[in-house]
Amino acid sequence: MTQLSSNRADVPGASSIEAGVLVSTNPATGAEVARFPVSSAADVTSAVARGRVAAAWWARLPWQERRSRLLRFRSLLARRIHELAAVMTEEGGKPSMDSVLEVMVTIDHIAWAAKHSHKVLGSRRVSGSLLQPEYSGRLEYQPYGVIGVIGPWNYPVFTPMGSIAYALAAGNAVVFKPSEYTPAVGQWFVNAFAEIVPEQPVLQIVHGMGDVGAALCRAGIDKLAFTGSTATGKKVMAACAESLTPVLVECGGKDAMIIDADADIEAAADAALWGAMTNAGQSCVGIERVYAHAKVYDLFLAKLVAKAEKLTVGTDPGSDIGPITMPGQRDIIKRHIDDALASGGRAVLGGPDSARGSFVKPTILVDVPETSAAVCEETFGPTITVAKVASMDEAITLANATAYGLAGSVFSKRNGARIARELRSGMVSINSTFAFAVLPSLPFGGVGQSGFGRIHGADGLREFARAKSTAKRRLPSLVPLITFDHTPRSVALGVRIVKLLHGRSR
Ligand code: NDP
Repeated sequence: MTQLSSNRADVPGASSIEAGVLVSTNPATGAEVARFPVSSAADVTSAVARGRVAAAWWARLPWQERRSRLLRFRSLLARRIHELAAVMTEEGGKPSMDSVLEVMVTIDHIAWAAKHSHKVLGSRRVSGSLLQPEYSGRLEYQPYGVIGVIGPWNYPVFTPMGSIAYALAAGNAVVFKPSEYTPAVGQWFVNAFAEIVPEQPVLQIVHGMGDVGAALCRAGIDKLAFTGSTATGKKVMAACAESLTPVLVECGGKDAMIIDADADIEAAADAALWGAMTNAGQSCVGIERVYAHAKVYDLFLAKLVAKAEKLTVGTDPGSDIGPITMPGQRDIIKRHIDDALASGGRAVLGGPDSARGSFVKPTILVDVPETSAAVCEETFGPTITVAKVASMDEAITLANATAYGLAGSVFSKRNGARIARELRSGMVSINSTFAFAVLPSLPFGGVGQSGFGRIHGADGLREFARAKSTAKRRLPSLVPLITFDHTPRSVALGVRIVKLLHGRSR
């Protein structure tokens, strides 16, 4: 494989490759964090081959043993939560409290996947058919084999683990390619898993830039779980299409919050601020747009601005907003703010100078045309647009006027469920934000340009397993049909049964 020769160490936050070694750096200071040999295409293929042997071993373990190993893994993470969080903060730049929170929620997901895999995937009897009562059916879900997981940097533990933990719980081995911005975080938890499962390389890691991810797509994996941008998701699908490798694609979003006239405005302002600005706004399910009913718009905006003014930005351990991880993202955020202002919008907090160096200050934009990049494209920074609407129908129409469809949020005392149902998105929180992500039993994923397939919950376990259907003859056939021995009499009898069972219009 051709190794990328990019050397961007002069830009804080940029990872670089020096003589075949990936060097990760802190996004605020540019200080080196870790070095990892870049995997060649041959290395990736070998990892998948080792993974295939490991997968056979892992899948043959009794399910109680896999459950026990995964529960021991989550206990290890719980004991070392601060150690992992420190690596996340050093390499990704996020405030330590955000890192701790991310690991906490991930631990809960690993436990859920471990405890529910047998119930969701194990062999069970399914109902028979009155037309052919001599057959009984069983359904079970079998692991694919080796799952390739490609992850982003913004939630470097929670996001890949949404695929990895569920894939492992379903009985697969995993080869993981972390983002070039967070390789040390990925290496940390892969090493930790090997302490619990030392016998076989059930969870492996390969390092490098996008070309290593592309090599993973072509390395003979049985399924690929990708989380990242929509643009890269399309490339990943194209690479996987060459070998008809199935894919799970979790991409970006442009999530909206809708605020009804009867909403708790204090709570809505608190949730909008956190949803928009946590992790410096670098959240796939971040709130990037707000549509507030005209009756509560002014009050909401005043509360939002007052709360946002108190946020602290910087690298101090207690800061609310850390640096922007990817150097290129700062330019996108600045372009969106500039476009909003140039097209008639106003900044009620922050403005053209919000993006400085590695940091972006909280920015609240109003009166922004719906055609502006700040409203249409994923910004991925601590910015938010707030628009006034005359009705909830208008809010729903505007919220749905995006090619994305990841998640959303609704604040309303009486109409929350109705509005939530009408949002074209895979997930929604009522009177909260991000809540769907912390309930392990709820599937996580989007529609449209936000991707397809689901991680988390029972659907997330089934995503990493194939349905295996088995029909067994229990008795001789009274009405032989699926044989050349059927007769005009047996077919006529079959027709009578079908008419009896299905012939009535109700
Ligand atoms: P990217 O799409 O840039 O990268 C995602 C991963 O794909 C990285 O590991 C990257 O490697 C790798 N990659 C890049 N090019 C290729 C390629 N040609 N073939 C295979 N793999 C490749 O996304 P970001 O890392 O910037 O993540 C941010 C995006 O992720 C946002 O759009 C965000 O909304 C989305 N996201 C979606 C989530 C969801 O669950 N729906 C959750 C979290 C984030 P490298 O970094 O080395 O280039």
